[in-house]
Amino acid sequence: MRALVLVEPGRIELQQRPDPRPGPGEVLLKVEATTLCGTDLRIISGAKTAGVRQGVIMGHEIAGRIAALGEGVSGYEVGQQAAPSIVISCNHCRVCLLGLEHLCENLRLIGYEIDGGLADYCLIPAQAVAQGNLVTTRTEVNPTHLALAEPLSCCINAANQYRVQPGDVVAVLGAGPIGLLHLQLAQASGASQVIVSNRSVARRAPAAALGAVAVGPDEVQQAVLEATGGLGADVVVVCIGEPALASVALDLARPGGRVSYFAGFPKGSTAEVDVNLLHYKELEVTGGSNARRRDVRAAVRLLESGHLNADAIVTHTFALDDAPAAYDAVRDRLGVKIAVTP
Ligand SMILES: [Zn+2]
Ligand SMILES: [Zn+2]
Repeated sequence: MRALVLVEPGRIELQQRPDPRPGPGEVLLKVEATTLCGTDLRIISGAKTAGVRQGVIMGHEIAGRIAALGEGVSGYEVGQQAAPSIVISCNHCRVCLLGLEHLCENLRLIGYEIDGGLADYCLIPAQAVAQGNLVTTRTEVNPTHLALAEPLSCCINAANQYRVQPGDVVAVLGAGPIGLLHLQLAQASGASQVIVSNRSVARRAPAAALGAVAVGPDEVQQAVLEATGGLGADVVVVCIGEPALASVALDLARPGGRVSYFAGFPKGSTAEVDVNLLHYKELEVTGGSNARRRDVRAAVRLLESGHLNADAIVTHTFALDDAPAAYDAVRDRLGVKIAVTP
């Protein structure tokens, strides 16, 4: 099979690999689509090395179809459409036992350490199959949309912490794919208005088309004050890894408001914040890293429902043979999100 391999930091290559065969407990997926994300770029450049194995097949936003079942696998059938949770947790460490499997101390990730979806086939490890990582669809979903189950599950994990209530005014800082997913989740939760900010005018257009008030970074405060009669946003979600936004978000939130630092910041980042904003406004600050299996299930259910506009997010598709060019396009910020289909 063909596979896009991380040869070493800074170098990816399309290689031929033997077709995988599922061993006991394993499931073989025929890959139907894999979407690309900014984290991939950080892995390729070498900026992100934690949990990354040299020689790994890239791609962690995977939609596939079950092609073969290993010995002893039950509950799945060949031909079923499925999306994997990429988080393989140990289920016995202290963090897993706190109910935080996605923050497991012995976490292994598909597409980082375990071979991912930028290939003709993807082998789901027995441990992942046994703990229910593979989520099948009940109705057929466009594969380039189903691949969004992974990033959407991460947004759902964060959204369950920042809890948009009906009528809330929500500010989303960033209008990339992640910003557009948080926008749509906020709308689905009953937000009365979502204000999305982005420096790029081109990137604001899809947010506006989805019903957001789309503004530049200099206009976001004014927009929030207007929408809330001067009170501040109920919820602020930071979707760009710029440390300076940590403070901006605290400013934008109303007394008792919720702030999510959803974006990962560059390693070692620090930010200056007015700590009295936390004290006097009693803000609740949360984060978001990966997702639980239950979040992936919720994401697949939501994608099946058709209530989430995935066409607004997946704007371009490349062939697997052109995967290196697809990454160049992600770097050049072509469209919103790019899918690769074998
Ligand atoms: Zn991703
Ligand atoms: Zn664990």
